[in-house]
Amino acid sequence: MILLWEIDTPIDPALLSLMQAAADCALHMEGVTRPCAVSVRLCDDDAIHVINREHRGVDRATDVLSFPTVSYPEGVTAGQADKLLRMEWDDELDACMLGDLILSVPHVLAQAEEYGHSPQREAAYLLVHGICHLMGYDHIEENDKRRMRAMEEKILNAVGMSRDEQASISDETLLALAISARERSYSPYSGYAVGAALLCADGRVFQGCNIENASFGLTNCAERTAMFKAISEGATEFTTIAIAAEKSAPWPCGACRQVLNEFAPDIRVIVTWDGHVDQAPLAQLLPHGFGPKSLAE
Ligand SMILES: [Zn+2]
Repeated sequence: MILLWEIDTPIDPALLSLMQAAADCALHMEGVTRPCAVSVRLCDDDAIHVINREHRGVDRATDVLSFPTVSYPEGVTAGQADKLLRMEWDDELDACMLGDLILSVPHVLAQAEEYGHSPQREAAYLLVHGICHLMGYDHIEENDKRRMRAMEEKILNAVGMSRDEQASISDETLLALAISARERSYSPYSGYAVGAALLCADGRVFQGCNIENASFGLTNCAERTAMFKAISEGATEFTTIAIAAEKSAPWPCGACRQVLNEFAPDIRVIVTWDGHVDQAPLAQLLPHGFGPKSLAE
């Protein structure tokens, strides 16, 4: 999912990474395979109050507002509406525009405190709630409300943000997040787009894609993009990395194996391409590796 951010009120950047993963997960769980885009504006209570009054006639601030582009028939959601999605195809974005979301940052922080959970969960929840609206869900009738809640919970579970602290991210979700990250690859020279999703021991997921350069030598692989994002956000322990490409198995290159070995010699590597999945422990991909322990000895 392409999130087009408009940030009027700043928020912890770590929340933005998490919201990206939650958005990718929402499409995967809904079964939408076509690339989609959503514009997300983060603002304060005054700004959302004005929009709420002008567009909905409700004279107060709120947590999230959603403006879908697709009008779904009764009981139909995005997963069953490929034709309708295709009508919203945007050539410039190379994706279907699902609509606009407006989130009040002060509401995210206040509600997290009020409900006694993390700002991470609240931000992910409100984004997922808004995206569900853009995918055709609503909560007016009791039946629809149950269906929407179930979908929200499914998405939040998949991204490791459920109420249940024990919930962990499945291989299937991690692979889906790697496949979504691949859509953001910048690989005009090789045409070989790669995405990665790195699962940290604390449950966070960091996504990465390969980023090429006209000088060729300055290209960075998807795995290292994800690793460097994670380390710069304070994560140091990693359990699994999923890597996705299209036509051949994207086993990590030598440089990435070495960087993975620095932080996570025991990490599990899962690759997917063209419907196939394979996996191996890093120790098998980099036997007798040179790492921090070598210097200590
Ligand atoms: Zn590499």
